[in-house]
Amino acid sequence: MIHSPRTVAFTQNATNVFFHILTACNLRCRHCYINPSQHGVASLNIDTITAWLSAFAGKENPPNVIFLGGEPTLHPDLPLAVKQARQLGYQSITIDTNGYLFHDILNRLQPDEVDFFSFSLDGATPAVNDSLRGDGSFQACLKGIRQAIAGGFHTSLIYTVSSANLQELEKMPELLRDIGICRFFIQVVGIRGKPAQAAASEPDRINQVSPEEWLNKVPAAAQKAAEMGIDVIYPKVFLKPGEPFACAGKVADNYFIFPNGRVYRCPLCEDYPLHGKIFENNRLTSMPGINEMDLFKLDIPEGCVMNRIIQPGNIRYLPDGSPVYRVACCLLKEEICGG
Ligand code: SF4
Ligand code: SF4
Repeated sequence: MIHSPRTVAFTQNATNVFFHILTACNLRCRHCYINPSQHGVASLNIDTITAWLSAFAGKENPPNVIFLGGEPTLHPDLPLAVKQARQLGYQSITIDTNGYLFHDILNRLQPDEVDFFSFSLDGATPAVNDSLRGDGSFQACLKGIRQAIAGGFHTSLIYTVSSANLQELEKMPELLRDIGICRFFIQVVGIRGKPAQAAASEPDRINQVSPEEWLNKVPAAAQKAAEMGIDVIYPKVFLKPGEPFACAGKVADNYFIFPNGRVYRCPLCEDYPLHGKIFENNRLTSMPGINEMDLFKLDIPEGCVMNRIIQPGNIRYLPDGSPVYRVACCLLKEEICGG
């Protein structure tokens, strides 16, 4: 059976809050996008977490929250934060985790309190995953997934594609099926955080894959997983001729919050003080220009303006100077339903 991908259109009717409640982590992944000099090193207390969650509550369409870090389960009050989000009417709650599941988190939450535990794994084998995420992290993540499933929690998995692990993507569907994961997110590694700090000449530097590699491997792996009954979501990355371009910063309602109070509308901006908003005294305030909101207005033939500024290496040009393809917003996704 052929499963067709569907482009998930942006909407301002769904507010998504990506809430980094701390930046500390037990791992030191080579492709980590966390940048403490830009995002802070604080661990927010529960009163602050509640106040910041409240800023997005009370809308006609209840918001969704994804708790992130660092490793969010290192925060001892994560269960309280989940309960506060529920009380504030959040319609879905996800916890992104590296799988170590600190502070006995599975026993301090009920399966109906969390919509998904989303596990990060970047290889189908310990050799590839652990070369990126650290020794022992593959087995620890699998153990965490199995414990979460045994506890009745819904689980999903995030695979961040880079030059270092593209070759194992095609092996992931079998692994996901065997461990019982029902939702698979494929991401592109961003040239931000650690990958941006490493010199381009460093042999170990994490790079993005070429357009040809992406288009050869990623849709096929997504299709394979869908045929096994797994729902798959992956970035569109390249627009076909005639496909409309839209910037989520202008037409969607996403907020990427960091412990130092910065609130971005675009994840590609996160290495820079370009945030459109900030929490000051627990109030969400707009930043003066120039910030990311001014950049979103620029209409360029290459598509995404932040990609053009910080990742220009992934754009190709024709002899007449026009781009071969337009790069889609990094938040534009393709979805294939399994089954
Ligand atoms: S688990 Fe996440 S936050 Fe921790 S080092 Fe890895 S990428 Fe960074
Ligand atoms: S990734 Fe590009 S298109 Fe998407 S929000 Fe950022 S600037 Fe806009």
